[in-house]
Amino acid sequence: MRCKHRVANFSLLRATLIALSLHAPGLAAEWLHDSAAIMGTRVSVELWHEQADEGAQAIQEVFDEFRRLDDKLSPYKEHSELSLVNRMAAEAPVPISWEFFHLLEISQDYSRLTDGAFDITFASVGHLYNYRKAIKPSHEATQASLPLIDYQHVILNKQQNSVFFQRPGVQIDLGGIAKGFAVDQAIDLLRKRGIAHALVTAGGDSRLLGDHQGRPWQIGIQAPRRKNAIATTLNLQDSAVSTSGDYERYFEADGIRYHHIISPKTGRSAAQMQSVTVIGPNATRTDALSTSLFVLGVEAGMALINRLDDLEAVMIDQHGKLFLSQGLQGQRP
Ligand code: AMP
Ligand code: MG
Repeated sequence: MRCKHRVANFSLLRATLIALSLHAPGLAAEWLHDSAAIMGTRVSVELWHEQADEGAQAIQEVFDEFRRLDDKLSPYKEHSELSLVNRMAAEAPVPISWEFFHLLEISQDYSRLTDGAFDITFASVGHLYNYRKAIKPSHEATQASLPLIDYQHVILNKQQNSVFFQRPGVQIDLGGIAKGFAVDQAIDLLRKRGIAHALVTAGGDSRLLGDHQGRPWQIGIQAPRRKNAIATTLNLQDSAVSTSGDYERYFEADGIRYHHIISPKTGRSAAQMQSVTVIGPNATRTDALSTSLFVLGVEAGMALINRLDDLEAVMIDQHGKLFLSQGLQGQRP
């Protein structure tokens, strides 16, 4: 889909984005926009290109890159590298691709940085949930699998590029970081094509290249308990932004909201937050940390963000109260 001289208004899964097209009339170049359903979410690309056909081709390349990564990292695809590892890695070390190994290494870095709040072995319990069918594990089943959640069970061997699970039953899932990684890959690809103004979004993870015709892009943060309403708006350029929320994939039972972000300590849905947005230099980082802060809660989460120079956060707690990191205070996002 092409769009010229218009107000673009995408309703994203967890963040609503409003971008104003401001280019001068008469220019041949144009803003191009397209979206596709990949990685279980909506992937959308908006970019500025002097040549519409080349711009459209670049967008298709982005979608191809997302599909390539989905084939590799999806827990739902039987032949993905991730599924293979989940089946085999408790028996013997499994040699894996450089790219997958790299993502596992980064994931462990985030586990260490967040004191275990980010942990891809959450899936050892997480796979017992089915949010669409409102299925949750019993207390006994959760307790039985809880000791399997520990990123230190995952042994990475750099010489052999292999992964080994120290305990049978350990499962991993990269759902907390893969979309951000894919967004970064897409931005690299667009940059190599000489594109200087673009927005790539996958569900709650976005990255912005340059500005939007001389003005920052405006990113609206979804109000967690009001459909299609915005809690606050951020003006951003050349940065990434990720939102994790409890309002997309969830069901309720006995007054409890069961959603897809799992506290590694309890094996249950993290209950302190409704929504967490992290702003930073790249989407791998903001994706991993938005999930992490959702688990950590306001106090520990803000303490972490405020000691990391390249990050800011907007956190909305379970009462709907909004908190801003130090760098956002005073400038009313
Ligand atoms: P996001 O929407 O980026 O916060 O990612 C949520 C996804 O992250 C979930 O659907 C899971 O696949 C994954 N996830 C859930 N809990 C954790 C956790 N504690 N650490 C890492 N990934 C998680
Ligand atoms: Mg995330």
